[in-house]
Amino acid sequence: MITLSNYINGKLVPPASGNYIDGVDPSRGKVFSKVPDSDEKDVQAAVDAAKAAFESWSNLGNEKRHDYLMKIVEAIEMNLEKLAKAESLDNGKPVWLATEVDIPRASSNFKFFATAIMHFASEAHNMENTAINYTLRRPIGVVGCISPWNLPLYLFTWKIAPALAAGNTVVAKPSEITPYTAFLLSEICAEILPPGVLNIVHGLGGKTGNAIVSHPEITAISFTGGTKTGEHIARIAAPMFKKLSLELGGKNPTVIFDDCDYEHALKTAVRSSFTNQGEICLCGSRIFVQKKIYEKFKTDFVQKVKEIKVGDPNHRENYMGAIVSKPHLEKIEYYVDLAKKEGGKILTGGKRIQLEGEFSEGYYFEPTVIEGLAFDCKTNQEEIFGPVVSITPFDAEEEVINYANASVYGLAANVWTLDLNRAHRVAEKIKTGIVWVNCWLLRDLRTPFGGMKSSGVGREGGWEALKFFTEAKNVCIKLS
Ligand code: NAD
Repeated sequence: MITLSNYINGKLVPPASGNYIDGVDPSRGKVFSKVPDSDEKDVQAAVDAAKAAFESWSNLGNEKRHDYLMKIVEAIEMNLEKLAKAESLDNGKPVWLATEVDIPRASSNFKFFATAIMHFASEAHNMENTAINYTLRRPIGVVGCISPWNLPLYLFTWKIAPALAAGNTVVAKPSEITPYTAFLLSEICAEILPPGVLNIVHGLGGKTGNAIVSHPEITAISFTGGTKTGEHIARIAAPMFKKLSLELGGKNPTVIFDDCDYEHALKTAVRSSFTNQGEICLCGSRIFVQKKIYEKFKTDFVQKVKEIKVGDPNHRENYMGAIVSKPHLEKIEYYVDLAKKEGGKILTGGKRIQLEGEFSEGYYFEPTVIEGLAFDCKTNQEEIFGPVVSITPFDAEEEVINYANASVYGLAANVWTLDLNRAHRVAEKIKTGIVWVNCWLLRDLRTPFGGMKSSGVGREGGWEALKFFTEAKNVCIKLS
C-alpha cells in the first residue's frame, strides 16, 4: 500500500484530518494507495505558503524561473519509466502510451513554458505625437489549478507550468481518481523548487476542489474536467470576479468525405476513437462517412476495431488497457444500453471483458461501434468518454456540417478530404475550438487550445496561457 502526501510549503505532509480515500488500480480492481482526503485546513495552509512565496518567486526574473523549471524537465525525463508505470497503475492506460505520450508531454509542458516565458513580450501603442501606451504584464498572485483523471500528469503540468513560468505561485489539485503521478511530481519538486511556490493538495472535488475554488485569496482558476463541474465552479468563482479558464467536455465529430486518403483516414479513425480507451477529450465519438464509401468504410473500420487487443496495460501488444474506474465502466455500459433502446445496432463490442487471473477484477470494455442512431439522439448528444463510437452515413457537405454542429459541445473536430477548398470551407463552418484536417492529435503547443459552447471558456497553450496567468496593465505616458 502506497500512502500519498500533500505537498505544502516545500514539504510532503499528511492531511490535517488524518483521513484518506482509496486509490484503485483499475487494471486489477484493487486498492493500492491511500490518497489524502484534504479539507479547507490543508487548502488554507497551501494558500498561506503560496502567498508567502509569491513576492520572491514573482520577482525572481524570467531567466531564473526558466532555470528552475528546466530542472523539473530533467527530473521528469530521468524518471520516465517510473512515472509511466505509475500513470498506468493509477489510470489503467497502457504503459506504452504513458511512456510515449503522457510523461514526455509532461516534461514538454515544462520545457515549453520555461522557454516561452523568455520570449514573452508585451505590446506598445503609440499615439502619434501625443502619448505612448505600453502594457505591463504581471503575475496574478496565488492561482488554482484543477485537473481530471484521463491524462493525469499531462494535463496537471499543462496548467502548472505556465502558471509558474509567469511568476505565480500555485495551489493545485489533481483528480482524486488518479493522483499518483502528481504525488511523484511533488517528490521531484520538493528537491528543486523553493518552498511554497507549488503546493499540491489531494482530495475530493466537492471538498478540496471546492475549497480551492471558493478561497478568496486564490484569484484565478484554471480547470479541466466535466461540463457540469465547470458550471458549478463558474457559479462560485464568477461572483468573486476570479479569472477563469474552463476546459470542459466534448462530443467530437469525425467527418470522412469520399475524396479522402482512404487508408490514412481509416487507420487514424481507429486511433482517434480508441486511443487511451477513448478517454481523451479530443477523441472523435461521432463518425460521419459520405455515402459513396460508407459501406466499405464501415466494414473495414469494424474489422480493424475487432483486431484491437484489450488487456494487461503492461503488455505492449495491448492497444487498450482498463477503464479508469468502476463507476465509469458502469456509465459506459449505461450508454451502450441506451443506444440499443434508441435503435442503435452494435456492429462490434458492446460488452465488458472478463480477463483471467490477477486482472479478473479489472474494468475492461470492448471497443464498440454503433450504427443506426439518429444524429440528435441522446447517445449522440451526451458525452460517454469511453471506447464507444457511432457511425452514420451522409450525402452532402451542408448536411454533415449540420450533424457536426448539432451538439452543445464544441471542442474538436476531425475532417478527412483531399479537396483543399472543401477542407477550408468545412473547417470554417464547424463550431469547434480545434479542427484537424487529415490528421488527429497533431499538437503544436504554441496554438490556442480550448472549446466553444459547452466545451469551455478561454484558451490554453502558447501566449494564451501566459496571458491568462498574468494581469495586463496599460500605462499611458503623455508626451509633452
Ligand atoms: P470532473 O469534472 O469530475 O473532475 C475534474 C476535476 O475537478 C477533478 O480534480 C475533481 O476532483 C475536481 N472537481 C470535481 N468537483 C469539483 C468541485 N465541485 N469543485 C472543484 N473541483 C471539483 O471530470 P473528470 O471526470 O475528472 O474528467 C472527465 C471530464 O474532463 C470529461 O468531461 C472530459 O471531456 C473532460 N476533459 C476535458 C478536457 C479539455 O481539454 N477540454 C481535457 C480532458 C478532460
